[in-house]
Amino acid sequence: MDNMRLDKYLTLTLGISRKDAKDILKNRLVKVNGTIIKDSDYKVKDFDEVTYKDEAIHYEENIYLMMNKPKGYVCSTDDKVNKTVFDLINDYNTKRLMIVGRLDIDTTGLLLITSDGSFVHKLTSPNKSIDKKYYVRCDKPFNDEDVVKFKEGTIIYIEKDEPYKCKSADLEILDDKCEAFITIHEGKFHQVKKMCASVGKGVLDLRRVKVGELELDYSLNEGCYRKLTDEELNIFKDVK
Ligand code: URA
Repeated sequence: MDNMRLDKYLTLTLGISRKDAKDILKNRLVKVNGTIIKDSDYKVKDFDEVTYKDEAIHYEENIYLMMNKPKGYVCSTDDKVNKTVFDLINDYNTKRLMIVGRLDIDTTGLLLITSDGSFVHKLTSPNKSIDKKYYVRCDKPFNDEDVVKFKEGTIIYIEKDEPYKCKSADLEILDDKCEAFITIHEGKFHQVKKMCASVGKGVLDLRRVKVGELELDYSLNEGCYRKLTDEELNIFKDVK
């Protein structure tokens, strides 16, 4: 944020238009480090103290977090019964934060959390079809026929009786044939569990390991989180 123009700083912190920002500057209502500044072009430094009508205002940059979600937590802001993933976050104002693509209470792995609403929209809007890769362990072994069925698009039920043909998905069976990586290109409710059920398997363990080209950081213990690096954030820069 170093060297942001003062009028832009005011629009972002006060939620006003550029024109209104210029007006309040003209009306001598803004001080930087105790001095009235009228110049929109003033470049705000990280250590500057900016006030509007003598009240301090702070620009908070957007936050982008990766969490390794544990079982037993719901992806919701408020839940009367269960703990939420926000209960695990203690060093950010969770009121600002949103989840980018929910996981079920018993699913673990890569969960993105941000304060940036347009980032949420960009990654979850159905027409963007960002790949999501899951590790799955089932109660029965997968076979080559399942690979074909996943490729062709399995039929799942969205509402009780409403069949839905999934987009083509990749099923990569692991050495233990009860285990696999499944990559889907959409995100229906309980999609992976329903796809596995459609080929006669019950899911015992489900972990999201990748969103687009962003991989779960395995050095994060379950329940821990960290900021995305600039490089990781850049992965999504071309998604419009
Ligand atoms: N598919 C599911 O069934 N559950 C999840 O949590 C994510 C994808």
